Amino acid sequence: MSSSLTSKHRKQTERRSIDLVVHNARLLLESGLVRGGIGVSDGVFSVIASDEHLPDADVIIDAGQKILMPGLIDGHAHINDPTMLSHESFKSGSRAAAGGGVTTFIDMPLTNQVDSEEIVTEKIRQGEEDSVVDFSFYGGMINENNYKVIPTLVERGIGAFKAFSCEPYQTNPGVLTRALSEVSEVGGHLTIHSEDQGVLDEFKKDMEGEWDAPVSHSLSRPNLAEFLAIRQNISIASHTGGHLHIAHVTTREGVNEIERGKLRGIMVTTEVCPHHLMFYRDDMNRLGPMSKMNPPLRTREDKAALWSALLRGMIDITVSDHAPCPIEKKEAGLEDIREAWSGVDGTQMILRVLLSEGINKGRLSYSRLLRVSSRNPARIFGLYPKKGVIRVGSDADFVIFDPNREEKLTADMMFSKCGWTLYEGMTMRGSPEMTFVRGVQVFGEGKILTRPGHGRFQAMGSGERPAGE
Ligand SMILES: [Zn+2]
Repeated sequence: MSSSLTSKHRKQTERRSIDLVVHNARLLLESGLVRGGIGVSDGVFSVIASDEHLPDADVIIDAGQKILMPGLIDGHAHINDPTMLSHESFKSGSRAAAGGGVTTFIDMPLTNQVDSEEIVTEKIRQGEEDSVVDFSFYGGMINENNYKVIPTLVERGIGAFKAFSCEPYQTNPGVLTRALSEVSEVGGHLTIHSEDQGVLDEFKKDMEGEWDAPVSHSLSRPNLAEFLAIRQNISIASHTGGHLHIAHVTTREGVNEIERGKLRGIMVTTEVCPHHLMFYRDDMNRLGPMSKMNPPLRTREDKAALWSALLRGMIDITVSDHAPCPIEKKEAGLEDIREAWSGVDGTQMILRVLLSEGINKGRLSYSRLLRVSSRNPARIFGLYPKKGVIRVGSDADFVIFDPNREEKLTADMMFSKCGWTLYEGMTMRGSPEMTFVRGVQVFGEGKILTRPGHGRFQAMGSGERPAGE
C-alpha cells in the first residue's frame, strides 16, 4: 500500500514540473493573436498564460515578440518510398519539414504500393528510426485489386488513401466508386489526383515540335482536364457518400466545382501547394525543367482564384506535394520537357510562401493561416486536438517565426536531399526560426538539432485523446 502511494505521489510531482517555458511571444490561438507564452511538461502543453503568470522551468526561451503557432501539418509529401531513396528519405525529408516549421508530415507513396499490413508495419519502423519530426502516411495507390484492404488499414491508423483519375496509376470511375463506398463505411478519406486522361492524351498532340519549351508541359495539360475530373469525382462522392479529398487544386474551374460541391453538402475538401501559390505558367521557360510538376503551373487568373479560395475557406489545407529528385532527372528535360521528372521541393517552403505571399501581401489573415496549415489538416487526418492547436494537453508541436525577416533562398539552406530548390535566389519575407516537436527543439539558427528517431508515427483517428482540460 505504501509503495503505491509513493508512486502516485511521484507521478503528481512529475506532472507539476515544467520542462520548457517560452515567454515574450505572440501566440496564434484559435481565438486570435495574444501576448504571452507556453509551458511544456512531458511533451505536451501544460501552461498557456501571459508572461507574468508563467512558471519557472529548466529551459526558458525568450521569443522576442515573434509569433508562436502550432506546428504545420504537411498533408501530402513524398518523403520515403523504398525504391526512390535517391529522391528523399525519412532522414532528409523530415529535416526539410523541420526547417519549414512542419512538425508532422503525411507521407504519400511515389511508385511503391502501401496496401498491406506488412508494408505499414515496416514503414512505421523505418520512420520511427529515421524521422526527426512526427509522421503518418497514405495508403495507395488504390486500384481494383486492393480497395478492399481499406477497412484493415483504417484499423491500423492509416485513414487516407490515394488514387488517380489519370496516368500513371489511373483508376476507372467504377473502382473510385467502390473505394469511396468503403471510405463511407469505415471513415478516413480518399484523395484523388484529378486530371482527365482523355483530355491529356488529346492536347499533348498539339505540342508536337514544341517540347523544347518547358511551358509546353503546362499547355499540354489544360484546365479542362482538371475541371472534368473534379466534376466526375464529386459526382461519385455525391452518389456514395464518403469523404472525397481533391489533391492539389490548381485551376479556377476546379475551385468553382469544389465550391459548388461544398455548397451542395457533399463531403469534399481540397488542398493547394506553395508552388501553385507562388509561380505562373509564364515562369516556366525561365525556370526550366525544375518548374515541371503535375498538375502544372497555371495562369495569373488561376493563381488569383487559388488565393481567393484559400482566404474564403473553399480550399481547406495547404500541402507541399514535396517530390524533388536528383538534379540529373531535371536536366534530362533540358531539350525535351517530357524527359524531366515531375515534382519539386516544397515542405520547407509552405510557411514561407504563406507568410511572404499571403500575410505580407494582404491575401491571408493569421486566423486563416492557422486553419489551413495546421488546424484543418489535423482535423482532416484525424489528429485533432492532439495536433494542430495550442491547448493544454495537446502535443507541444510549435513553430516560432518572424513575419518580417527577409531571407534570400538558396539551395544550401534547404535540407532536402535533392540539392536544388525552385526558389533559388528569391528574397522572401517571413521565416520560421525555431521548430519544436513534443517539446523538443528540432530546428533553430538554420540547423537541425535532433538526431533521427525523435519522430513518432501518428495513427489517424488517434486525435480524440483527452486533452487534459
Ligand atoms: Zn503528390
